[in-house]
Amino acid sequence: MPPATRILEPLKVPSKLLMGPGPSNMRESIMDDVKAGLQYLFQTNNELTFAVSGSGHAGMECAVMNLLEPGDTVLVVQTGIWGQRVADLVDRLGGRVQTLNVESGKAATLEMFSKAVEDCKPAFVFVCQGESSTGVAQPLEGFGDVCYKNGALLLVDAVASIGCVPLQMDALNIDCVYAATQKVLGAPPGLAMISFSERAVQKMRTRKTRVPSFYFDAFELANYWGCSNEPRRYHHTAPISLVYALREALSLTTIELPPNVEFKLIINKLMSQGIEIADGLGPTVGKVWRIGTFGVNADKEKILKTVHALDEALKTVHNKDV
Ligand code: PMP
Repeated sequence: MPPATRILEPLKVPSKLLMGPGPSNMRESIMDDVKAGLQYLFQTNNELTFAVSGSGHAGMECAVMNLLEPGDTVLVVQTGIWGQRVADLVDRLGGRVQTLNVESGKAATLEMFSKAVEDCKPAFVFVCQGESSTGVAQPLEGFGDVCYKNGALLLVDAVASIGCVPLQMDALNIDCVYAATQKVLGAPPGLAMISFSERAVQKMRTRKTRVPSFYFDAFELANYWGCSNEPRRYHHTAPISLVYALREALSLTTIELPPNVEFKLIINKLMSQGIEIADGLGPTVGKVWRIGTFGVNADKEKILKTVHALDEALKTVHNKDV
């Protein structure tokens, strides 16, 4: 999926006379920009993709509160403390926790995962992609398909991994992902990004009980973020400065390769000078370079250094035969 073009445009902040008693309104298109950027970040077309006000835990609570109904069985893949935290939350909300305990420092294999899902037939399964307490990077290939076959939803914590480890939400059949701004993206803490698949939305639409939180009700939030066809309603006061910061943190520049240039040679040349840029992803492999300007690297000097190194590399590497 290509990067959202709207997020590549420079930010235009309108000057408005904020006359109301507050909360004062922010430009709606900022939220649309962020939403489009998040769809790219998660590699998803999910309409219900937005940011929750709060840290990574807000994403976790929003996901669990909307996907869980009292009495539901949840399978938690335990590779560290984040599985324990979700298990605690499920228990508080009246769900039944089944745990797949994985040896410390190891990731779950597809085989053990499949067996556990088949055995306990959960309503949803929790997996942490980047377990920051143990350093385990959990591969997710095939996990979504196993869940799909067993009528379960797949929930992934990508707080510590998003932007660092690829996460192809739609291709991997993942039903809900949450992440946070302050890790790899290098934006200030205070927003949790989240996305729900159509299957997750279906389960949420057919709930027998109400979501136990108004603040974290995904459909209320979705309306606020312009994800539904209804006019937006005030839901809560969003931390506007953080939404602006997230928009900037999501900017990623993709550069189309000139003809007859071998992409890897340029990447290697820059790498030999200590500068890392990335190849394309999925359909753009070999067609673009991706240059991130995130966090402290959103800095004129660093960007000029990268552009200069790229320019020099292109002068010396002319074609695919070099
Ligand atoms: N999940 C993971 C994998 C994390 O590393 C963290 C934060 N260390 C969280 C969830 C919770 O995020 P926060 O501290 O932003 O609430």
